[in-house]
Amino acid sequence: TCGICVEKCPFDAIEIINLPSELDEDPTHRYGENAFSLYGLPVPEAGSVTGILGPNGIGKTTAVRALAGEMVPNLGNYDEEPTWESVLDRFRGTELQNYVERVRDGEVSIARKPQYVDQIPKQFDGSARDLLEATDERGALDSYIDRLDIGPVVDNDIETLSGGELQRVALAATLARDRDFYFLDEISPYLDIGQRVTAARLIRELAEEEDRAVLVVEHDLAILDLLADTLHVAYGEPGAYGVVTDPKSVRNGINEYLKGYLSNENMRIRPEAITFEEHAPRETTKAEPLIEYPDLAKSYGEGEFSLDVESGTIYNGEVLGIVGPNGIGKSTLAQLFTGDLTPDVGDLDFALDISYKPQYIEIDQPMRVDAFLSSITDQFGSSYWNTEIANPLQLNRIMERNLTDLSGGERQRVAIAACLSQDADLYLLDEPSAHLDVEQRVQATSAIRRYAENHDATVMVIDHDIYMMDLLADRLMVFDGEPSIEGHASKPQEMRDGMNDFLSDLDITFRRDERTQRPRINKPDSQLDREQKRAGEYYYAE
Ligand code: ADP
Ligand code: ADP
Repeated sequence: TCGICVEKCPFDAIEIINLPSELDEDPTHRYGENAFSLYGLPVPEAGSVTGILGPNGIGKTTAVRALAGEMVPNLGNYDEEPTWESVLDRFRGTELQNYVERVRDGEVSIARKPQYVDQIPKQFDGSARDLLEATDERGALDSYIDRLDIGPVVDNDIETLSGGELQRVALAATLARDRDFYFLDEISPYLDIGQRVTAARLIRELAEEEDRAVLVVEHDLAILDLLADTLHVAYGEPGAYGVVTDPKSVRNGINEYLKGYLSNENMRIRPEAITFEEHAPRETTKAEPLIEYPDLAKSYGEGEFSLDVESGTIYNGEVLGIVGPNGIGKSTLAQLFTGDLTPDVGDLDFALDISYKPQYIEIDQPMRVDAFLSSITDQFGSSYWNTEIANPLQLNRIMERNLTDLSGGERQRVAIAACLSQDADLYLLDEPSAHLDVEQRVQATSAIRRYAENHDATVMVIDHDIYMMDLLADRLMVFDGEPSIEGHASKPQEMRDGMNDFLSDLDITFRRDERTQRPRINKPDSQLDREQKRAGEYYYAE
């Protein structure tokens, strides 16, 4: 190990990771002897959106409790009573001085959106409207209901809402408050790209037009890029210590994160860089077809949702990405392929073994993770399986835990491992990015990609994270139509055509970061946006 990781190096890097200089100093807060320590603090600023980019368990909640004045950080002296005066001494002359003075004087009020919106129904009884009306301190509710498209469900009981509906209600409930400081712990879970972009715009408007300070944690990098003005990268060893860097520009922060090296801090956070291709991948010579399917149709009944699917071919060894808004029939198609649903029109008579990871994961047997995974594959524990599956999905630390005790992200990683560990002709993963932090997404993406390449495995992946899709997919299947009413699935297309198809529906174009070729969402109606729309190039350069 490199000496700073308490357990095992999360990257399996032999390389020496520089000891961060902050660790020579005292932490901002330490929970106790050998307990978690937080170094640095994010800097909220009125009129701007500050982002935090980093893994879970790195001290975001601890930092926010300090910034909200709910806890006086102890500066590492966990056996003394902390005071705001000593905190102020520490931060005097820094960008935080002003803010800390206001917290000390009790002048900062906070609104926050929790990370796990699934928990809201456990804490609240009543309709979405009841919840929202209680939070409407700025008279902004009607506009949020309209722009977040909550209208159709606003009078429904909170308990009956889907994940995506709860997420939008939680956002509206937080933004409608009249506070100085807003903390949003992830906005993208369960939302499709259109909804993510809308949420990002509403948050920016709140900061800019109402002069509020907003702090966001977000793991979808395309959305974080759109959302934040400045960025703190957080790194460390989840559960042991976390370092929040000084603020960087968003562009720089994300670039450095992708590069795996933080310049100012002289800190390597990942052995390899993550790179994007500016041009669409060249059309690959097609392998043998795995599946040739005819035109398909499926309806859930008279007046219910209906889906039609254009005939197509899926080739052996390819990763096929599947994109489209929520409620458009992506999971319905997955279930047609697995045989859980039967098409009304068209025959799917292939006899393939399909390994399926559904969107909502139900693995809650009272069983340990290691017992569960070894019941799936006799490769379990082999050095090959460890390298390909357990290490990139960071399973080693949770092997002895019970499936029932896992967090959302841990459950997701076990489910991806279980899906890839089976012997199958086709691997079908529905939203593998859900609940994963940014580093876990990177690792899961490369695990899935590597698995497909090394096994000549055919993989279909449904996801809303466009960076993940870019890094994963060889071709794209694009869904359009009217959510909840009718959906249409295109043939599998080349990446360039697929991205153009998908993004023109959304009316979003991407430009390339000059230094890293990373795709960045264009400002609507900017010169580039208009030019690219005219040329019909929404994602890749010519
Ligand atoms: P994040 O919000 O980034 O997931 P948190 O700030 O919630 O991280 O927690 C960071 C670490 O601090 C975790 O390992 C957590 O278990 C630990 N921690 C949180 N609260 C306490 C506490 N009161 N005492 C000891 N450890 C704590
Ligand atoms: P996506 O995966 O694109 O979000 P789904 O395939 O899950 O979309 O759902 C498409 C539509 O079909 C949604 O409006 C959903 O409510 C509806 N739907 C899904 N399953 C059923 C069912 N068993 N009976 C009736 N409607 C359903």
